[in-house]
Amino acid sequence: MKAKTLKGSETDLNENSIESLKKSLQGPMILPGGDGYDQSRSVWNAMIDRRPAFVVRCLGVADVIACVQFARLHNLLLCIKSGGHNIAGLATVDGAMMLDMSLMRGVWVDSQRRIAHAQAGSLLGDVDRETHVHGQAAILGFVSRTDIAGLTLGGGFGYLTRRFGYTVDNVVGMNVVTAGGKLVRADNDENADLFWGLRGGGWNFGVVTGIDFNLYPVGPEIVGGIVAWPASEAEGVLELYRTIAEKSPLELTLVLIMRPAPPAPWLPKDIHGKPIVAILACYSGQAEEGEKIIAPIKSFRKPVGDALTRRPYTQIQSLLDATQPNGRRYYWKSEYLPGIEAALCQKVMKHAARIQSPYSAVILFQIGGALNQIKAEASAVGNRDARYVLNIAGSWEHASDDKVNIEWAREAWADMKSFSTGGNYINFLTEDEGPERINAALGKGLKRLSELKSKWDPENVFRTNRNIQPA
Ligand SMILES: Cc1cc2nc3c(=O)[nH]c(=O)nc-3n(C[C@H](O)[C@H](O)[C@H](O)COP(=O)(O)OP(=O)(O)OC[C@H]3O[C@@H](n4cnc5c(N)ncnc54)[C@H](O)[C@@H]3O)c2cc1C
Repeated sequence: MKAKTLKGSETDLNENSIESLKKSLQGPMILPGGDGYDQSRSVWNAMIDRRPAFVVRCLGVADVIACVQFARLHNLLLCIKSGGHNIAGLATVDGAMMLDMSLMRGVWVDSQRRIAHAQAGSLLGDVDRETHVHGQAAILGFVSRTDIAGLTLGGGFGYLTRRFGYTVDNVVGMNVVTAGGKLVRADNDENADLFWGLRGGGWNFGVVTGIDFNLYPVGPEIVGGIVAWPASEAEGVLELYRTIAEKSPLELTLVLIMRPAPPAPWLPKDIHGKPIVAILACYSGQAEEGEKIIAPIKSFRKPVGDALTRRPYTQIQSLLDATQPNGRRYYWKSEYLPGIEAALCQKVMKHAARIQSPYSAVILFQIGGALNQIKAEASAVGNRDARYVLNIAGSWEHASDDKVNIEWAREAWADMKSFSTGGNYINFLTEDEGPERINAALGKGLKRLSELKSKWDPENVFRTNRNIQPA
């Protein structure tokens, strides 16, 4: 079997060595054309279509160790897929040996110590489901079908970020299989340098097999959901968003979305496909207080749909899932913002009016709060000055529409990037974004990350990622 080496040349793996690897594994090995090969090689973004040499669906840490040792022995290029949600498709690489972590979805909760241990292939929804049993939650992202690994290793933000910081600010430790094929612990006591780098520049140092998250009492019921108006009300709604967001307590997170209305059951049929402006809200404190705080949103002019109500925390976590299916074509442009200026609102409206597909959106996520209070040196994640995230999210179905949708996103970004802090979220970078954007995402931590890379992965075994070169 042919496979790519670390240097990019091709090597021939003989049948005996493949057979001996297979025998040493508990999880299945899948060759091209085999059952499940296409499922493993495909990622969320259908723009990415690559064919790894073969896939191992790891069932545990021992499988991961066996794979890394095999890759080292044969000098193979490795790629790691946890959820395959990275928009740049970093999880899948032509000719590489793929470690598919998606069968490792175990989650264990210690509610007394308020810690959840989750295997790297867990989806956010897997963690939420288990922690919710205890009225607790980890600090994760906005879409429950995405995976914890890539999100955490790049920073992570969601509905609870304003109260508790980035996801990485709430990680207690990680288990990692290093480039040498050894399992190590990374936390504040053991391998603290590695722990620092994993929290923001994380994909570069090994295969993360499990993550321990701090948990907080949340819900079980919160006040959350979405209210929508016709886009003709956008000016007023954006002003409302700005005003409430600026003075809101940290328990409240607001997301503004402009897009064509999806065919959602809470929206009347005659608005489907027409442009709307919506505010998505989550108040994670006491429900009575939350209801008072969100009342001005619910009573603002005449919404075309209102699904903002008390609901279980796990419901708000999955509210956006249906809008982000696997297998569509996606292209994003994104920036961190220090605030929402009136001039930016005008541009949000302008570019939302030019959307080229029924699924694309211009989105403003509110994240400012606890993350701004934590020292920049605490971990590798940059952008402690970020208070909002602008995401120009192109989403469409057919390759023939690539050009028009990509151009829309690029033009909108070119027009709005001057409002940025200068930083961006590394996990939102697309395939065509290079070193300059990575530098902007990682900021001052880059030099230290590069030194860490020399120590933990001097041969750059873990390179199919937002790669940091050894110093
Ligand atoms: C619909 C959608 C919604 C999103 N919402 C949010 C959000 O609310 N908040 C947020 O912060 N981000 C969000 N993201 C971004 C998300 O965090 C990134 O896409 C992330 O990279 C996905 O993680 P993954 O495990 O699927 O990564 P994959 O696509 O599987 O891999 C991405 C990279 O991580 C590396 N990697 C994967 N697993 C491991 C591992 N176990 N050990 C070491 N390296 C590994 C891979 O080598 C690759 O380079 C969203 C993305 C999507 C598509």
